[in-house]
Amino acid sequence: MSLTAFNQLQDVVVVGAGVIGLSAALSIQQRLPKSSIVSVVASEFPCPSPIQGHNTAETASADYASMWAGAHYRPIPYMPQSAYAEQNLSQHQQKFHDQLAQEKQLAVRTAKIMKDIAQQFPESGIQIVPAEEYLETPPQENLLLKTGDVYASGDDCFRVLDRTELTALNHKTASRHEDEIKWACSYETYVVNVHVYCGWLLHRFLSNGGKTITRNLGSLADAFTLGIAKNGSQTPLLVNCSGRNFDTDPATKIIRGQTVLVRNQYNKTITRQCADGTWSFLIPRPLNGGTIVGGTKEIGDDETHARPETRNKLLENATHYFPDFVKDMKDFDIVTDNVGRRPWREGGLRIVVEKPEDGRTVVHGYGAGGRGYELSWGAAEKICDLVLKCLQGEDEVMVKL
Ligand SMILES: Cc1cc2nc3c(=O)[nH]c(=O)nc-3n(C[C@H](O)[C@H](O)[C@H](O)COP(=O)(O)OP(=O)(O)OC[C@H]3O[C@@H](n4cnc5c(N)ncnc54)[C@H](O)[C@@H]3O)c2cc1C
Repeated sequence: MSLTAFNQLQDVVVVGAGVIGLSAALSIQQRLPKSSIVSVVASEFPCPSPIQGHNTAETASADYASMWAGAHYRPIPYMPQSAYAEQNLSQHQQKFHDQLAQEKQLAVRTAKIMKDIAQQFPESGIQIVPAEEYLETPPQENLLLKTGDVYASGDDCFRVLDRTELTALNHKTASRHEDEIKWACSYETYVVNVHVYCGWLLHRFLSNGGKTITRNLGSLADAFTLGIAKNGSQTPLLVNCSGRNFDTDPATKIIRGQTVLVRNQYNKTITRQCADGTWSFLIPRPLNGGTIVGGTKEIGDDETHARPETRNKLLENATHYFPDFVKDMKDFDIVTDNVGRRPWREGGLRIVVEKPEDGRTVVHGYGAGGRGYELSWGAAEKICDLVLKCLQGEDEVMVKL
């Protein structure tokens, strides 16, 4: 799209300074003329890592999900449409798999950019690492995968472990039949030191001339009246990356996550899905940021304090499942407990244009659930495409996802 197509100064206000808002703000900034001002308005901005002695619980609320993520990229496979009839999928299930198929495009695109960032800017807090997954009750879509498939990205060296390797793994953790690993894989992915990375995104945004405003907005509409635009009569275009859309969308829910940050440093990310529906995972944080031992997924659970019994269970499971990391509870060097709320939305991330009133325009980009980092750049590019179309006065802007 040619920038000369813009015939006047165009300012954009992004609401939200989580990973989605910051990635979107940077993408928009890169594609607008230098004379345009891109601002980020948020009640919360990136804060430093607790491993540096800061207490994240005092500087970030549980609702600022980006400060509490692991974070790694763990793909979620989907059932191809060609298999719907054979697998007898309900309409609801088909919709879910269509959503996962769309998300895969965003995730693969994001992986490409994240890996480039890791290579060009190691100080960004992104690192490429080996990954392993152990599933006790693998869904059909995992069983359909073959070594060499595009799992996380085109160059991820994806490999399904063979029967001998599964037997050896089960022997190592003395698994009984009901909780033995039935499917496992290895591949290459990336991990994120979330505090460093979000700080890095913000720094780039500011260095490129971006503006920030710290404000707790009562509603999205309040952002229209901040008086940010250079030309007072001009209403800025709003991009809504508030995570949960001010709790006005009945399709959004919170999913509570509790994890533990330990100083012990691991070198790969491992995830074990247990037959009882719980998860056990390790996510090393780059730049000596320790390791996240996780974690819970508790739908609609409002508790913002860490539960000590959950912490114990997470650490105990890690010693049992991943003894090459830490064998004994007493060997954990605990930094802090984490409790965050994933901004989940039925139907997935909502990237869509809305024109509420008076010619005002909002481009939404919220509801990333547990996948905000791994979908971030793919989502940011889609949001940016919509913003550019709106600024060029295209009325028929598409509504997707
Ligand atoms: C325990 C845990 C583990 C996770 N692990 C992973 C992982 O491994 N990989 C992964 O990809 N994702 C992971 N996630 C999910 C990820 O953290 C989220 O998907 C992502 O952070 C969402 O980003 P966001 O920018 O949409 O929202 P948020 O990070 O929540 O940011 C919302 C922004 O909007 C602002 N805002 C909201 N309301 C208002 C208001 N009224 N006024 C002004 N500003 C407002 C906030 O201040 C904030 O700046 C995890 C999450 C949790 C909790």
